[in-house]
Amino acid sequence: MASAKLDSLRAIMSLLYPPACAICLAKLDVQQYLCHQCEAKLVRIKPPFCSKCSEPFQGAITNPFDCANCAHRTLYFENAVAAFRSRGLARRVILDFKYGGQIHLRHLVASWLFAALDDERLRTREFDLLVPIPLHPARERERGFNQAALLAEMLSARMSIQARQVLERIRYTTTQTAFDRTERMENLRGAFRLQKSADVRQLRVLLVDDVLTTGSTLSECARVLRRGGARSIHAATAARG
Ligand SMILES: [Zn+2]
Ligand SMILES: [Zn+2]
Repeated sequence: MASAKLDSLRAIMSLLYPPACAICLAKLDVQQYLCHQCEAKLVRIKPPFCSKCSEPFQGAITNPFDCANCAHRTLYFENAVAAFRSRGLARRVILDFKYGGQIHLRHLVASWLFAALDDERLRTREFDLLVPIPLHPARERERGFNQAALLAEMLSARMSIQARQVLERIRYTTTQTAFDRTERMENLRGAFRLQKSADVRQLRVLLVDDVLTTGSTLSECARVLRRGGARSIHAATAARG
């Protein structure tokens, strides 16, 4: 998306004409991240959606329901919530943030995560601990940071709830996309563990990640936390596939 040139232009612009749209640099009247045109390109997840994994559903369903995928598998979190779809503009922003070195986009991505927290499934809940989904150390070195940890820290500052990396990824799993759901779950078995010094007993945990795809990773992390004695596990992500 934006080049280094555009990035430095943005830096100069922010000094001269604050505030500007994070994507197209359009001038904004109020302190927001996006202009109306860019905001309109985001796909908000609206009901009806699966109460468990937030997968939207076409049609008129008024009662809470679980989608076919969730009805046929064991998920170890209570629910996983996202407010936006990771398509089009949202997807590009997250990719630029993760892989494109555009770390300034964390504010925009975090704002989508905050929107998920406003969902009625999470809004009224209290949490004791925020837990980012860990990257494998080799991948974190390669990328320079863990986007989930960065987002959890921002959420922590906003919610005044501590964020701790209590999970570690001990297996490098690369071939997830080639697998179906059952195989993904199998492939992830043993990929995570609780850090030795971590104590999550009786804690109400909120798992944090940037994107939810099938929910398999979140569920496997939830399984490890549950086995470690966590009282409840919910999950929030900035966007959903
Ligand atoms: Zn814009
Ligand atoms: Zn579902």
